Amino acid sequence: MFERAILVHFNEIGLKGRNRGRFERQLRDNIVAAVGHLAPRGVEKVASRLLVPVHESSAEAVLSCVSKTPGVSSASLAFITSRDPAEMERAAVLAVREAGPHARTFAIAARRSSTDHPEPSLEMNRRIGAVVQAETGLGVNLTRPDVTCTVEVVQGEVYVYARSVAGPGGLPVGTSGKVVSLLSAGIDSPVATWRIIRRGAVTVGLHFSGRPQTDSVSERVAAELAGVLAQGGGFARLYVVPFGDLQREISLAAPPDIRILLYRRLMIRIAEALAAEERAMGLVTGENLGQVASQTLDNIAAVDATATLPVLRPLIGHDKNEIIIEARAIGTYELSIQPHSDCCTLFIPRTPETHATAAQLDKGEVDLEIPRMVADAMDSLTWIDFPCHAYRAPKRFPVQMPEAS
Ligand code: ATP
Ligand code: MG
Repeated sequence: MFERAILVHFNEIGLKGRNRGRFERQLRDNIVAAVGHLAPRGVEKVASRLLVPVHESSAEAVLSCVSKTPGVSSASLAFITSRDPAEMERAAVLAVREAGPHARTFAIAARRSSTDHPEPSLEMNRRIGAVVQAETGLGVNLTRPDVTCTVEVVQGEVYVYARSVAGPGGLPVGTSGKVVSLLSAGIDSPVATWRIIRRGAVTVGLHFSGRPQTDSVSERVAAELAGVLAQGGGFARLYVVPFGDLQREISLAAPPDIRILLYRRLMIRIAEALAAEERAMGLVTGENLGQVASQTLDNIAAVDATATLPVLRPLIGHDKNEIIIEARAIGTYELSIQPHSDCCTLFIPRTPETHATAAQLDKGEVDLEIPRMVADAMDSLTWIDFPCHAYRAPKRFPVQMPEAS
């Protein structure tokens, strides 16, 4: 039998010039951490790819894990053979069968990364294709095959693979710093969070619960969302703040029409206090221009006036239906539509302000003890940890038992 390996392809990090080594090392470390005991032989670098040798029995599990890792453009389940022509042919038959039990057509795509291999690629295609055709009875289709079997001659070895899974692309987590993402239990913020994870940022989530003014259902939903986001190894921790009493304080001291904006400002301040502990360099929200009253340009500007860190809004120009499609694709949509009480709707009138100014919000806050409120929130934080290789926990909030992954 042939040895098996997952061949990891990455595009964008190939473009990083002098930083390339750092990006590749981070990707390798992240994959080692993610697949751990399933790939005891570690991860090797082979001709601008990474190779994860696996046992046949854990191959599918490693493939699935690697293909969720940011920085990976695709992952392929390869047979490793020598340059013996008969071995390549046998492996190609196995690879085509494995990739397409219902396929009717196939093509062979031979490549030589090693130029010392004498047989030209076109010859290899013909030779191996003839054997696969005879053994499987499938037809050859060079333009739109159901299965493409790649045969790659690399240094001393040959990789033969037809089963590939697309990865998320993007950059390895740990190459873009750290952010605090405001994670509600809604549809948008998990998608926004995932986009930033995919760009290589270590992410900690911060969820504001309406507790004790509401139940804790949104906390459970946020934790489930965090579990999905953590699958790529980029979501390190979910913090939860019981926010209901602080909202109550705001509602007692401030006019109804700007309450939601004052909640938002307090959320931003608490997120920044957390970012200072975490040494995070930015905040993330799922905001979307004009989607709801609190997300008009005026209101975004009035809330942002309190922020000192950049507030990243990856979904700002997206339509809701585009966001929903993405939420479905990353597996968060069904969790986000579970019924839960949203803390933002606490003590809110039907017609909130849509054109607030920073000065108006400053005025609305004069009777509030903002520093004390932020300190109360920081004292009441709880958190759940997820496996994230590139994460370093702050001293004040040490690592707890990781969630079962
Ligand atoms: P989402 O689906 O992300 O909740 P939304 O369309 O419901 O978005 P809003 O409720 O106005 O929008 O919230 C805008 C953004 O503010 C959210 O995307 C999120 O980043 C942040 N946010 C709102 N509520 C909370 C919360 N309870 N905890 C943490 N962040 C929140
Ligand atoms: Mg919401």
